[in-house]
Amino acid sequence: MADQAANRPDFPSLSLQFMNCAAPYGEAGAVLFGAPYDGTASFRPGSRFGPMAMRQDSAGIETYSPYQDRELPENKVCDLGDLELPPNSSLVALERIGAVVRQILADGKKPVMLGGEHLVSLPAAAACLQAWPDLCILHFDAHADLREEYLGETLSHATVMRRIWDLTGDGRIWQLGIRSGTIEEFAFARAGHTRLTPFNLDGLAPAIREIGGRPVYLSIDLDVLDPSVLPGTGTPEPGGVDFSGLLQALLKMRGLRVVGADLVELAPHYDASGVSTAAALKLLRELLIML
Ligand code: MN
Ligand code: MN
Repeated sequence: MADQAANRPDFPSLSLQFMNCAAPYGEAGAVLFGAPYDGTASFRPGSRFGPMAMRQDSAGIETYSPYQDRELPENKVCDLGDLELPPNSSLVALERIGAVVRQILADGKKPVMLGGEHLVSLPAAAACLQAWPDLCILHFDAHADLREEYLGETLSHATVMRRIWDLTGDGRIWQLGIRSGTIEEFAFARAGHTRLTPFNLDGLAPAIREIGGRPVYLSIDLDVLDPSVLPGTGTPEPGGVDFSGLLQALLKMRGLRVVGADLVELAPHYDASGVSTAAALKLLRELLIML
């Protein structure tokens, strides 16, 4: 078999690697990996299939961004592939994700994680917070994710921002596009624990001003997009922002010091058209070029 491989002609081939993310780990400035965990999905599971769908469909998207007039360079991003995670043990999954992110940060690189459900952001943000104690969190979502617990579970995609707040304390989390949550969650935000902009992304400009030069962890729950744009998600919530709005918001963050990021909650099987995966991919390309 080894001989066969050695004698194989060097045909160009498609691989499951994301786009141009072929940099060797040692040379990469950013490191992409999938965290295919959806064990606490409160409504429809399936986000564990998000990262693989994105890799597969990335063959259909250009590496050049007309928005930024830049190419995603070949030597910039290393794609580690997907982590192997147990389907139903949050503690083990979170520990494995945390270990990977800590290592990436220790090597001086930026982690970019593809979920999975939103709970996977907790260990990634926690690792970044360990490295940068003044870390700020920029959170795009339809849902506040500020519950203290969900059906008795304190570790859930419905509690993830509350668990991150446990670590950051008040005034360090900016939440944009939020249009769903309990009365207690909105009251918690209004009490000044987080800075929450409901329904739209108008809070971004003040957020950018307030964050200034501090390091930022960017967490994009793709259900912030309207379900007419991105139906492929576990908890669709009508009344969301359109694709151009989110893309423009992302481009406005170019001046921020983003030290880590994630795109979560793509559940590709709920959208047979594949458009949801395409939307996620396009955002990912812009994010990787921007970093
Ligand atoms: Mn969320
Ligand atoms: Mn959400």
